[in-house]
Amino acid sequence: MLSQYRGIAPKGQLELLKILGGKLSGRSLLHINSTKAGGGVAELLHRILPIMTGMGIEARWEVIEGDNRFFDITKKIHNALQGNPEKFTGEMWAYHFEVNKRNARNIDLDAEFVFIHDPQPAPLIKFKKNGNGHWIWRCHIDMSSPQQDVSGRIMDYASGYEAAIFSVAKFAMLLPIPEFIVLPSIDPLSDKNRELTPDEIGEVARKFDIPPDRPMVLQVSRFDRFKDPIGVIKAYRMVKKYNDCILVLAGSPAKDDPEGEEVLSEVQNFAEGDPDIRILLLPPFSDKEINALQRLAAIVLQKSLREGFGLTVSEAMWKGKPVIGGAVGGIPHQIVHGVNGFLVYSEEGAAFRIRQFLNNSDMLTRMGEAAREYVRNNFLITRQVGDYLSICVGVENAGKAVIEIS
Ligand code: UDP
Repeated sequence: MLSQYRGIAPKGQLELLKILGGKLSGRSLLHINSTKAGGGVAELLHRILPIMTGMGIEARWEVIEGDNRFFDITKKIHNALQGNPEKFTGEMWAYHFEVNKRNARNIDLDAEFVFIHDPQPAPLIKFKKNGNGHWIWRCHIDMSSPQQDVSGRIMDYASGYEAAIFSVAKFAMLLPIPEFIVLPSIDPLSDKNRELTPDEIGEVARKFDIPPDRPMVLQVSRFDRFKDPIGVIKAYRMVKKYNDCILVLAGSPAKDDPEGEEVLSEVQNFAEGDPDIRILLLPPFSDKEINALQRLAAIVLQKSLREGFGLTVSEAMWKGKPVIGGAVGGIPHQIVHGVNGFLVYSEEGAAFRIRQFLNNSDMLTRMGEAAREYVRNNFLITRQVGDYLSICVGVENAGKAVIEIS
């Protein structure tokens, strides 16, 4: 399995994985999150699992079950942690806990290492049996300015874990446990990111009626206000006064994101009457389609207002596209402004950079090459699996001054 990454991922990352595999082979590791499809967490777990299993680790992935009421509450928690004011009642918190209690009865929580992803299943820590494994809370969301009462609740749960992982240092909370920073990553061998043949790309262009002779501006995202789809349309309209282009907004639903439909209809209403704006509703696991769209695009945007990391940024960069991204959350860790993309702070800024790229294809190519290399060195999945497994070794040997891994 790891040998498939030879020649693609940096050699040092593969060496480290070999050593960590020797150390952790045969050990059990469990990931738990709240959806199998939709969003970056599920995207990553689908790819991390087979790599860990291929290294001889007994890795499992479980998903908590919940009803609409539960996911409405957890989406509000998500929004509040990302800084949108939300109101909570004691009853809502009790229900969040209650659903986790039910899940704790149905899921086999027994593993030597347990990674709980995000706030939805965070209360599961209350159902850990004494001495049963090393539990780590992995937070993927942008916690740069959370609503205090909500982050307080989540901190109470997080404090019960042995360690916490955040994507960016400024999201870390004041917890009484060790905190680690792990930036997410993409898998260069997945259907989402592998090389495609011209025929495969052409097929997708025909399927979505993408004209071959007009530049396409693309944003791939769940329909979520933090992804600012309306801001993207406004920027496109400014550009359209001077340059020809079409705009594609591609998104698909996530089971744990009940607000998606409402945001989608806002976007559809806002875009109405412009045949050059294509809103593509893709079914889950449309990986090849997204891969092809990212390759077909002249310009890729990720104009988020809050963003844990933004896998879509690295996905496009890996395909040689310099991304124009909102300067929030994990995006500035991927985009080196003016080198492999541009960071923007407004619709006007986005429009200005789109025009700059549309009018300068040499710059687009040069920055696109830099983008791909930046992802190769920093954001391939081999690096992230190494980070997770190093943390496992770290928590298991907590307190030791020297940890031997070879
Ligand atoms: N994605 C997808 N289909 C869509 C929209 C997004 O497969 O219609 C994928 C996208 O390619 C990326 C992930 O979902 O791999 C989104 O991760 P990101 O970190 O960008 O955002 P999140 O949704 O986790 O906030």
